[in-house]
Amino acid sequence: DKKLHQDHLEAHELLSKFFHHLLMNTNEGQKSLEYMMQRGFSEEQLKSFRIGWALPSWDFTSELLKKRGFDLSSMEQAGLVIKRDDGSYFDRFRGRIMFPVENDRGQVVAFSGRIIEKTSDEPKYLNSPETPLFQKNKVLFNYHKARGAIRREQSVVLFEGFADVISSNEHVPNGIATMGTSLSNQHIGMIKRLTNQVIICYDGDQAGIEAAFKAVRETAASGLEVKVAILPSKLDPDDYIQKNGSQKFRQEIIDSSVSIMAFKMHYFRSKINLSTEDGRLHYINSVLKEIAVLPGAVEKELYIKQLSGETNLSIAALSEQLSSITPREN
Ligand code: ATP
Ligand code: MN
Ligand code: MN
Ligand code: MN
Repeated sequence: DKKLHQDHLEAHELLSKFFHHLLMNTNEGQKSLEYMMQRGFSEEQLKSFRIGWALPSWDFTSELLKKRGFDLSSMEQAGLVIKRDDGSYFDRFRGRIMFPVENDRGQVVAFSGRIIEKTSDEPKYLNSPETPLFQKNKVLFNYHKARGAIRREQSVVLFEGFADVISSNEHVPNGIATMGTSLSNQHIGMIKRLTNQVIICYDGDQAGIEAAFKAVRETAASGLEVKVAILPSKLDPDDYIQKNGSQKFRQEIIDSSVSIMAFKMHYFRSKINLSTEDGRLHYINSVLKEIAVLPGAVEKELYIKQLSGETNLSIAALSEQLSSITPREN
């Protein structure tokens, strides 16, 4: 009901402030602050995204919430505390860097917490569970803050991780990310409300390329105009920015994003071993199959030429091979 809803929002707001204060201004948060600084996050970024620190305590959050008059069974429903068998409660987020997650109105509805050291088998990121306030398939990180920039630039940049959104924000203010899930129809609907152009910028590793391939298919199928920003294979956007700065990231990666077809060629190259003859043939046929379904003759010729240059095969041979391919329906 309404009172509960209000309670949950207030608790998230209160904790955002507290965690942020702990990170920025206390001895307890100092090591985590150093970690974030050493990762290249500026004080400004930490403030503007209200990044925080949850103490490595079982009851700091629950005691604080209790003291402020919140009912802990309601806080359990909000995903902030967990109930023990004996009926007592303990903190869900302990010893983690806290990233507040806002809904499309800018209200904090969830947290994601990152561990600093990979000591135990704890997950790297721990998210709030699904709650009345927070459904992962309806929330896009930074959507509320980026809204103006998305409209202004008439494009949105979709990242895999919210570390990428934060570190690119100075030069890419129209960046958003899912909460570690794949893109849902609701997410696509949220994007389409603001713009019809999307740049997909996922991690450069194989998992990122696979995820981008899937995201390209889904966004293109929904009628969005799609481009893909390709990263060097070992890097994610945040890594790239740490190495080269966010201005270079904007110019060399975002403003150099490529067409779906060019990305698909990159995708096939990443999966197929081009040092064998079989591999090269497989690659050529995969690309030709994609060229076969392109709508325009000029587009077809463009990529045939590119493939010819890449493979040292004649345009005539590739065109002949192409004409033997029946375009598959999709
Ligand atoms: P960092 O740079 O801090 O290591 P990242 O953003 O590069 O983080 P990735 O490992 O690339 O993290 O994962 C991308 C996204 O997937 C994260 O932002 C997070 O939303 C989600 N994610 C990653 N690991 C987990 C996990 N163990 N549990 C839940 N979600 C996760
Ligand atoms: Mn990744
Ligand atoms: Mn990453
Ligand atoms: Mn990263």
